[in-house]
Amino acid sequence: MRSRSYPFSVLILLAIIVLLGSCSRVDKLSAIDGVLDLRNYDFEQHVGLNGEWRFVWNGEFPGEALPDEEYIDIEVPDSWKGYQYSGYKLPGHGCGSYFLTILLPERPGTYALEFPTVGTAYNLFVDEQLMGGIGIYSTDIALASPAYESRIYDLGQHAKQLHLRIDVSNYHHRLGGIWESISFGTGPEVHTHRENRVARELFLFGAIFVMGIYHLGVFSFGTRGKAALYFGIFCLIIGLRTLATGEVFLNQLWPALSWQILVKIEYLSFYLGIAVFMEFIRVQFPDEIHKLIAQIIVSITVLFSVLVLVTDVAVFSSSMSYFQPFSLLAMLYVIYGLGLALLRGEEGSAMVLMGFIAVVITFLNDILYVNNIVNTGHLISLGILIFIVTQAFLISVRFSKAYDTIDTQRVKLENTNIAFQSEIEVRKAAQQEVLKHKDHLEDLVKDRTEELQIANERLKELSRVDGLTGIANRRRLDEELDREWKRMLREKRPLSVILSDIDYFKLYNDSYGHQQGDDCLTRIATAIKDSVNRPGDLTARYGGEEFCIVLPETGEEGAFRIAELVRQNVIDLNLAHKASKVAAVVTLSLGVATLIPNHDSQPSLLLQAADRALYQAKGNGRNRVESNIAE
Ligand code: GH3
Ligand code: MG
Ligand code: MG
Repeated sequence: MRSRSYPFSVLILLAIIVLLGSCSRVDKLSAIDGVLDLRNYDFEQHVGLNGEWRFVWNGEFPGEALPDEEYIDIEVPDSWKGYQYSGYKLPGHGCGSYFLTILLPERPGTYALEFPTVGTAYNLFVDEQLMGGIGIYSTDIALASPAYESRIYDLGQHAKQLHLRIDVSNYHHRLGGIWESISFGTGPEVHTHRENRVARELFLFGAIFVMGIYHLGVFSFGTRGKAALYFGIFCLIIGLRTLATGEVFLNQLWPALSWQILVKIEYLSFYLGIAVFMEFIRVQFPDEIHKLIAQIIVSITVLFSVLVLVTDVAVFSSSMSYFQPFSLLAMLYVIYGLGLALLRGEEGSAMVLMGFIAVVITFLNDILYVNNIVNTGHLISLGILIFIVTQAFLISVRFSKAYDTIDTQRVKLENTNIAFQSEIEVRKAAQQEVLKHKDHLEDLVKDRTEELQIANERLKELSRVDGLTGIANRRRLDEELDREWKRMLREKRPLSVILSDIDYFKLYNDSYGHQQGDDCLTRIATAIKDSVNRPGDLTARYGGEEFCIVLPETGEEGAFRIAELVRQNVIDLNLAHKASKVAAVVTLSLGVATLIPNHDSQPSLLLQAADRALYQAKGNGRNRVESNIAE
């Protein structure tokens, strides 16, 4: 990016230099002894009325009367201050008359004069005729009044020669006299030149001002930090300075502005400009510009500025001769810092250094110009414009870099987003799948649990049911008997059990086979079960071909009756038993036992008693019921 912008920016800089620098005057001619010979001049371009003017001092000398009609030669442009006059050194304050005879071509021409600012008030006479003036010229300090304004005087037609007399008075500035070059040329050419200069200055002002506003805007949005702030302020200061010098547009914008304030603006913009510029460079290159040195430079410029603010022009204008060398030192330090940054390869240092060198060169030019060593005019605004353009390039380079970064970041972000998006999709799908399974799983678990519960219950039931006959088994019998025992114990009610045993069942098996024996067992079990129907009653297979009936709340009599009923019901089944020795059909022998449970007794005793009764029934001939009271 650098390599692309550098040749381009150099081109732009050259264009600006050519554009703005092409307006230099042709100053080959120079006055000698108060006479400027323009008889052979072609007047295609105006000429500066520079060289030796005749000068008469009109001011007072301390202690001594002024010698009459003494002329000296004095350089224009220059201040009269310091010239030897009648053996005295001229002071800055006072008044004097400048005289110049211009030798013109034979052929008449229309001429005009362009006056820059003259320090600090003057009247112009052409051929002893008053043409006008700026400020109030007076030999009396109380009456004189300073003003800054450039002006064109149209002189009309002249031929052969022209006498100029300029009365200048100054009691307000440290320097007095014609300190800038007066232009002389044909009317249209002088006007065109002036218009060009106005255009140039306004262009400079506009460019610098817009840059200032732009940078303050950039700062207020917080994108470039303090560098933008300082640079913005610097541009505004220089913009203001452009309005306060040269054509002094401030006069036109604001006629009420006093000369004092105008000069204060001119000085302040210079002093504060250096301070703000110093800070600007320091924040951009903090490693190269020492903070303490920058602070010292800024403090000194602030002191100078305070002096400008609180004192009169007469006082503070002399500070310039001290400030100029100081500001040169400051600039040398900045060049040193920028050179260091360049060597270290700091970003943008070459650009800033290039622009800054333009500032330094034009600044040196201005010092030389102000001191009448060169005759180029004020160029600092041009230098600063060049500097601003380098800054603008630097900023655009940084911006495009920033945009590049933003672009790559955006692409990265977009890619990440896309990746995330698909990741989210995948996860969503997975989640949905899980949810689907979850519902399914819950249902499944519920179903399985129910099934398990049913199976469990079934198992529980099975564990208490006899597999062959389908009635309660021995385990269930024990549980029920125990429970009923306890219940009857509490209620003190009688509990009976009936034990039954099939008569000669071994023989039945032998006669009809084991399978039919099983069928017989099942039918008898059902018959017994059907014989007892009270809710608390329980019929269970006691073992082999023996069955037990538990009868809660049933006394001896009731139990006996039920046993008889059972015996009869089994006979009624009419199951043939040819091997039986007591009947032709299958019969039962039954033993009944009854008791009211107490704490000394237990269920097994009741069963033992029933078993004894059964044994008795067997012994007494079978197919009968015997009862036995349990002890
Ligand atoms: P008693 O009149 O003295 O009772 O003579 P009994 O032959 O019936 O003698 P006991 O009661 O001791 O007989 C037990 C016989 O019952 C033995 C066996 O042949 C038969 N038996 C026991 N359990 C089953 C069974 O589950 N199925 C079949 N088919 N026969 C069984
Ligand atoms: Mg038996
Ligand atoms: Mg038997």
